[in-house]
Amino acid sequence: MKAVFSLCMAIPLLHASSGLAENHETARYAIALHGGAGRDWLELDANEQAATKESLRQALTIGKTILADGGTSLDAVEQVIRHLENDPLFNAGRGAVFNCAGGHELDASIMDGRDRACGAVAGVKTVKNPISLARLVMQETRHVLLSGDGADLFAKEKGVDLVDQEYFWTQRRYDTWQRVKQQQTDDHQGTVGCVALDKHGNLAAGTSTGGLTNKLYGRVGDSPIVGAGTFADNKTCAVSCTGVGENFIRNAIAYDVSARMAYKKQPVEEAVHEILTKTLDASKDGLGGIIVVTHEGKITMQFNTGAMARASADSTGSMEIALGE
Ligand code: ASP
Repeated sequence: MKAVFSLCMAIPLLHASSGLAENHETARYAIALHGGAGRDWLELDANEQAATKESLRQALTIGKTILADGGTSLDAVEQVIRHLENDPLFNAGRGAVFNCAGGHELDASIMDGRDRACGAVAGVKTVKNPISLARLVMQETRHVLLSGDGADLFAKEKGVDLVDQEYFWTQRRYDTWQRVKQQQTDDHQGTVGCVALDKHGNLAAGTSTGGLTNKLYGRVGDSPIVGAGTFADNKTCAVSCTGVGENFIRNAIAYDVSARMAYKKQPVEEAVHEILTKTLDASKDGLGGIIVVTHEGKITMQFNTGAMARASADSTGSMEIALGE
């Protein structure tokens, strides 16, 4: 597939070659979210595009309100992702894609930039909001990642909302599964993620997905792998990725954004641009998008897929909600 590079900044730092460009104001809070990268967003009809943007706007409002009221970045990330998980428009929670066996296996992770605490779940089948279960793994166990039946059992023990597999059945995902099976193509649109900086100076990141349509049973993507699909460290940034997960795992993409900032002192826009154009080869399945909020409140949202559902806002009043370039 021919991939077109595009990028979109929520603050005026487009093509900045140094870290701070013109705008030296430090945002007191900042938030960015995505609903997955892929050209399919542009193929929706006008009503569907409007509904998608409206859902992004609602999610953004949820997160922004928490941050403006002095709430934590972790709460903002979790609540924004829960909203997107509950909306069948996105490939996470309710709208999770079908795997090759006609079932649904969901992945999610969350990370606290204060101390690199993190939690993740992979391959859960009965959990309405995997992001909240990931947070429970982080806060109530000594582990980082629970998978499969054990993760579902943990969900039951913790009393989180459970659903049966029919809850995840949607006509749209079913049709996509049929098309993908026939055409042997890939489909990875709709994963959701959120990154935030709160007024206390703390960063958090989270990602949640149904994975790839027609994926093998048991397949785990980058979204629940800390350092691949999600990363947060107060010293650098918070990152959430979307795209063909195998390539994000191979290249430790989310951590690479942070490492480039920490060790190479690379401006975040440049770091993400290089990763999406050089590290990931869009002609070889290296398709995807990355959203970042830095410890200074800078936001960058970039993708090499022609489109990515996304939204961002910060305390300076800048705001963006978009699908295409
Ligand atoms: N990264 C997800 C995965 O590979 C899919 C996506 O972001 O669309 O599971």
